[in-house]
Amino acid sequence: MGTMIPQSLPINTAISWQRELANAITDPFVLLSQLDLIGQLAAIDPKLIAQFPLRVPQSYVNKMRKGDRYDPLLRQVLPLIDEQADVAGFIADPVGDLSAVTSSGVLQKYQGRALLVTTGACAIHCRYCFRRDFPYGDSNPLASHWATTLAGLHNDLTLNEVILSGGDPLSLSDKKLADIMTDLADIPHIKTLRIHTRLPIVLPQRITAKLLSQLADTRLKIVIVIHANHANEIDSEEKAVLADLRIAGCTLLNQSVLLRGVNDSVSALRQLSEALFDADVLPYYLHLLDPVAGAHHFDVSLAEGKQLIDELRKQIAGYLVPKLVKEHAGEASKTPVF
Ligand SMILES: *Cc1c(COP(=O)(O)O)cnc(C)c1O
Ligand code: SF4
Repeated sequence: MGTMIPQSLPINTAISWQRELANAITDPFVLLSQLDLIGQLAAIDPKLIAQFPLRVPQSYVNKMRKGDRYDPLLRQVLPLIDEQADVAGFIADPVGDLSAVTSSGVLQKYQGRALLVTTGACAIHCRYCFRRDFPYGDSNPLASHWATTLAGLHNDLTLNEVILSGGDPLSLSDKKLADIMTDLADIPHIKTLRIHTRLPIVLPQRITAKLLSQLADTRLKIVIVIHANHANEIDSEEKAVLADLRIAGCTLLNQSVLLRGVNDSVSALRQLSEALFDADVLPYYLHLLDPVAGAHHFDVSLAEGKQLIDELRKQIAGYLVPKLVKEHAGEASKTPVF
């Protein structure tokens, strides 16, 4: 089938995104020099970088404000000394992922939906990430037991959706993703493939013409849940690739994390929802921070989160208000906060 894929210019190719990914900034000195913030080097802890490296693509850095150490994008990636705080309740695996992984590498907590962690690689390292301590290597179904994983999905007739999560599944090559999509499309009861990815936001070059035609050509319904936390993350380049994904037939949703110093105000949340809608993306979830060790400085209380959403609801259309949710290990779904 010759699907027409209008492309944003310049045409994104495998080479351009893989080069950009390889050139991601990992040295805090380089990052802070570019932002005229070299004085902030003292607020960074080299030991933290050894545990969970700094990693941020140049295109994302380009959207940070120079000279502003409180920039909401910078804050998401900067390994601050604050991460050392040992706070009760903030632990390595706050959402019980380790106990939910089955032997075939499937992470199934909820009915009808199976989540596959197919890669540990991310283009960006978000300091608040609840999977920052996840031992990806052990549970990657592509690594050693893809046939077993597929057989498990085949045999479980209660499933209708497979979610590729991460790490970032779009850090896999187009070829690898094509193979996964072909295998999943062969399972009759799987109707929907959902991709949880931050790449359209942090490395828009990743959305190649090849990927777009693969997404357009599968029989599976494709839902792409992007991850943006602040309106400044969505610029013309991101809007262009999101438009391409829509044209390829994908449903686009966004999930965010409520983060102190990033989006913890009604105006920041409103601007984010408006920027998303402007890019044809609907807000889906606003997650309360999972209490992962090292992320306490991002914490916003449940009561404050609820207040922000109540106020947001008065200011914008109901469909632009994300569902505020909290994940509790062992529960049958994300828990809405009313
Ligand atoms: C969040 C999550 C899902 C998806 O839940 P939805 O409410 O359908 O978005 C599925 N599986 C796991 C393990 C999850 O953590
Ligand atoms: S992109 Fe997602 S999985 Fe990767 S570090 Fe950020 S929040 Fe975590």
